[in-house]
Parts: sequence; structure tokens; C-alpha cells
Amino acid sequence: MFVDSHAHIQLSEFNQDRDSVLERAVAADVNTILIIGFDLETSISAIEIAENHDNLYATVGMHPHDAKKLTSEILNTFRSKLEHSKVIAVGEIGLDYYRNLSEPEIQKIAFEKQLDLAEELDMPIIIHNRDAYMDILPILEARRGKVRGVLHCFTGDVELMYRSLETGFYIGIGGIVTYPNAKDVQQVAKEIPLDRLLIETDCPWLAPQFRRGKRNEPAYVRVVAEKIADIRDTTINSIGNITTHNFNSLFDINT
Ligand SMILES: [Zn+2]
Ligand SMILES: [Zn+2]
Repeated sequence: MFVDSHAHIQLSEFNQDRDSVLERAVAADVNTILIIGFDLETSISAIEIAENHDNLYATVGMHPHDAKKLTSEILNTFRSKLEHSKVIAVGEIGLDYYRNLSEPEIQKIAFEKQLDLAEELDMPIIIHNRDAYMDILPILEARRGKVRGVLHCFTGDVELMYRSLETGFYIGIGGIVTYPNAKDVQQVAKEIPLDRLLIETDCPWLAPQFRRGKRNEPAYVRVVAEKIADIRDTTINSIGNITTHNFNSLFDINT
């Protein structure tokens, strides 16, 4: 059994064939999928899809790209959406200094407000980071013991991984681990304590090497598990089982 802990299957890229995509996931033993919202609209559409399927869940949050859109009205709407039984995390939230589509200072304010919300509701958090570990880690360290979650699509080196683990967060590894030049991520996949590992696709983006540049989908999370198993000289099933166990324990899913 496998879990795709980070998928955006609510997007229009899947409008033509969403049911077949979900069937292929089940056929590949990818039985659980967490659909990640990144603004109000995509959070609502994530919930709508999750409502119609047993093993699909949703998150609600404002991505750093759109931090400037986080009004107090939207924050209140998020608070009520987070009460929905299919919504299991706040996210994806964080900092993105690569594209800087919102000012860094505005990103930080939106990040902190949503961390407050997660703390208030005692919910896990999906963290998005790009070129911003130096600011994200101190923020998480300051809230150590009060917040929990996953640093999704981890691309740092081993040193950053060990520092990140000290915040108590899990590390999400995706299709990048299959790219021949992704030495840092492969080293992280090799050294990470297995009880802190999650796997993800971040579909429709970041397809693994064999589909690189094309649309990604939840079934391919298997390819991520396979690569990690290869690197660690273990079986794909053991990676599937441990990451499924980790997912269920972080998000408090009763199986
Ligand atoms: Zn992200
Ligand atoms: Zn994402």
C-alpha cells in the first residue's frame, strides 16, 4: 500500500480524465491521496473531490505565492473549512523566495497567521519551501512542540535534513529523487530515519524521470518508493508500508 501525501488532482489538468487517474492509482496500490489546496478556490475544490471518495483527504491553506490574498475574511473561511471531516491539515503554506510572487515580508505574515490557525485547531501543517530554509527553520524551531507536519518536496542536503528533523517535522520526498543529477535528495533518501519519511508526487508537476516534463499523477508515487527502496537496498513494499504508517500516524487516520 502506498500513500500520495501531496497531490493537486483538483486542478483542470485532470478535468478530462480524473476518474481514470484515480482508477490507475488504486490499480497501483496507491490507496490514499492527500489533495492539497493552495488558495481558497483550490482548497474548496480539494474538499469537493475528497467528499466523494473514501480514501481521499483534503487540506486548506494559502500558498506563499498568493500570500497577499490572505485577508482576515479568507482566514475566517479557512477556519470553518478546516472543521470539515475530510480536511486533515493546514497547507500548503510556507515561504518561496525563488519566485517571490508575494513580498517576503507579506509571505512571512501569511505564514505566521496560518501557523497560528494550525496551532489553535491542533492540526498538522504542509510546508512549502523554496530557497527559504534559513527563514522557515527558525520559525518552526520557535514553535517546537506546538506544531507538527511535513516539509514537502524536500530538496535540501543532508545537513539541512538533520536540522529540519529537529523541528519534529516529517520530510516529504517526491519525483526529484529519480532525477540522475539530484544527488542531495538521493543522499537524504539514503540517510533519513525511516520513521520520518513521507512520499509524494506534487502532481501534475515534478513527474519522475521516465515521464519527466509530462503530467504527473498519484500512481507514480510508486516510482518514488521504488527509487528510495533501491537507494536503501530494501523492498518497495517496506517503503510503502512504513510511509503509509507514518502518514496515518501524522494525520491521525484510523485504519
Ligand atoms: Zn509546494
Ligand atoms: Zn504542492
